[in-house]
Amino acid sequence: FTGRQAREFPLNAMAEMTVASCLSQPVVVGTDTSAYDAVIALFTEDAGTVFVGDNNILAGVVSRKDLLKTAMGGNDLRTLPVRMVMTPVSKIIYITAAEKVLAAAQRLLAYEIDCLPVVQRIHDEADTDKKELKIIGRISKTNITRIFAECVSGRRI
Ligand code: ADP
Repeated sequence: FTGRQAREFPLNAMAEMTVASCLSQPVVVGTDTSAYDAVIALFTEDAGTVFVGDNNILAGVVSRKDLLKTAMGGNDLRTLPVRMVMTPVSKIIYITAAEKVLAAAQRLLAYEIDCLPVVQRIHDEADTDKKELKIIGRISKTNITRIFAECVSGRRI
């Protein structure tokens, strides 16, 4: 099931829905972006989490709490690069577009996080052993709440 089609099948269809059918646009800032500008991105994009990466290659994730903690530590957010405060890619929990929405929900709950980057694994042209994660979207608790509400009500929300 994809996109609109999936929403015409209530409740039991939820089990078959893939991440591709309900992902959102990701909010991405470069690794050199200041923590201050990451806070601005949270407000202007109305997101709770910002992904960090150059050319959409995932380098890390920065959340509200990461930024609050940094501000409380008395750091100068304007000069501190976001890569110093992010959770690095080695620790990031992610999902691919072909996986089930149910898997996304289970991952969000298991790791107690608000959102997952939706990624595509790509090979580095210069170093074929090195795998990189290209950011193609995000799936959050809000997306999953929307799917639930749409399937139960039978209409788009
Ligand atoms: P908030 O800080 O707004 O409560 P989260 O609960 O999602 O947001 O984040 C809690 C911690 O987990 C933060 O340190 C954040 O960097 C990290 N985090 C957020 N999303 C992920 C993810 N997909 N994978 C790994 N760590 C994450």
